[in-house]
Amino acid sequence: MPAAEPAGGTQQGSGSPDVAALIPLVRRIVTARVPDQATADDLVQETLARVLAASGRLESGTLEPYAIVTARNVVTSLWRDQDRQRRHQHRVVDLRPPEAPDEDVLVQEDRAAIAQALSRLSDREREILLAHEVAGRDTRSLAAELGSTAGAVAAQLNRSRARLRVEYLLAAERIEPPTEQCRPVLLAISGGDRRRQRDVDAARHLLECEACGRLSEPLMGRGRTRDDEVRVPVRKDADVVAARHVARELATRLDFSPTDLTLIATAVSELARNIVRFADVGEIVVELLEAPRRGIKVVARDAGPGIDDLDRALLDGYSTYRGLGLGLPGARRLMDEFGIASESGRGTTVTMIKWRDEP
Ligand SMILES: [Zn+2]
Repeated sequence: MPAAEPAGGTQQGSGSPDVAALIPLVRRIVTARVPDQATADDLVQETLARVLAASGRLESGTLEPYAIVTARNVVTSLWRDQDRQRRHQHRVVDLRPPEAPDEDVLVQEDRAAIAQALSRLSDREREILLAHEVAGRDTRSLAAELGSTAGAVAAQLNRSRARLRVEYLLAAERIEPPTEQCRPVLLAISGGDRRRQRDVDAARHLLECEACGRLSEPLMGRGRTRDDEVRVPVRKDADVVAARHVARELATRLDFSPTDLTLIATAVSELARNIVRFADVGEIVVELLEAPRRGIKVVARDAGPGIDDLDRALLDGYSTYRGLGLGLPGARRLMDEFGIASESGRGTTVTMIKWRDEP
């Protein structure tokens, strides 16, 4: 008998894609490659979590191809992890420190990749980026010097950072893009620029180009340490407070109004409390969105029992609390966008956004 299909999700807000609708597709891709049912379930979940995390930065037509390449990547990294585990198994009983020279080489390679990436920027791009990132010049003083506006300088900085990320990855992975279209596609993804993604048909390219399929995911920001994203593990009451503080702290950086700060903190608090009460283990990830529109994104994940009837859980007064089920209608009202994916017996993921800027 096939495994129970997960409950469908609902999304609202400006053109939010329905991530839950991707589940059958993702499941097909994963089960075709991974025979073990339990492992396959895990990988489907992991893929969806990543797609959900990226969905705010992708135009809706790109979501499905991104889900496909992410599913493939997740399966591949499972194989790589298993292989690495096998090779490093002796380390478990071998207490000598890992070979230091290895790490030296990595640091040197990283520096070389950054230098190469910087050299790919135009002189002007590089100067402004370094003045801002290294010398700490603010956008207003740079604008005054360049006879421009602070907004235009900020936009330019975003484009330069997006390009630097692309060039850094290409250099670090030692990849020469196989087609003329690769750089424009990677750049549109890196910058989270949905209109450009449509213009360069990023959706089709991700599927056809193996290199870009592989690079798209790190460009989404996974695996990098960033100061505009904070992850709070949630297990006990004190973590609820920590999650609320983190959200408020990050939101303050975007100059949200005091009212908005309270709404955001309350929504985060609500979801974190649900995790503690009904799911035991979970996490809250708070992330600042910069381009093309500023806002704060909150993702709450739990490994709880899941919600069978999402539509019902989103109705006011729904009281059969299961995991993140409590207070969902409340949290949804406090934020601008709200999406949820849940699978019975496996957990629930809620994604919420509060926008700082008008569309
Ligand atoms: Zn490509």
